[in-house]
Amino acid sequence: MFVDIHTHIDNQSVIKIVDENFKEKVLKTEGVHPWKVCACDNEIPRLRLGITAAIGEVGLDKVHKETFERQVEVFEEMIRLSESYRKPMIVHCVRAYSEIIEIRKKTKATMPWVIHGFNSSVETMRQLLKHNMYISLGEVLYRNEIQAVEILKNIPVERLFLETDVSGRDIKDVYAKAVTLSRWDLEFLCKKIFENYGRLETTH
Ligand SMILES: [Zn+2]
Repeated sequence: MFVDIHTHIDNQSVIKIVDENFKEKVLKTEGVHPWKVCACDNEIPRLRLGITAAIGEVGLDKVHKETFERQVEVFEEMIRLSESYRKPMIVHCVRAYSEIIEIRKKTKATMPWVIHGFNSSVETMRQLLKHNMYISLGEVLYRNEIQAVEILKNIPVERLFLETDVSGRDIKDVYAKAVTLSRWDLEFLCKKIFENYGRLETTH
């Protein structure tokens, strides 16, 4: 079983599970992306009606032009939804890791958050892990192998996910790449990440 914890199909952010026979299960994730926080007035009331699988992708992005204050407001609204519907969140974070941690502490959120597309330092990763978050790796495995090796060396496999996001790659290739950069074999990685996914699902 291969879990692609964050990818996009036709503008929709999804979680994709692929089995050995290439059968796919697609779960829609719902939420307001930090780049779209200024045009989400209709979206939030709709989300309040219910969340099916997970919230995503939501988060904070300091490089994007949307005002940071508004991003925080909407992110906190997404957290409220995540907590009240007991659904995990797929989190987009660009240069705002300390704010993400602060907000998790402040809101006392208990649902699992997956920090997708992680490409920061091992120290930052440790901080996120300390606050019970999961880390998902994708392009960093290809673009910054040295850093990816360090991350893989230090992350407990119980907190790891892999993803394709907008890369267009095959999730099986991403798993194979992670195997070449880590101490784990493919079978072990598949088993562990699927267990991690199971843990996300059983939170609700
Ligand atoms: Zn994405």
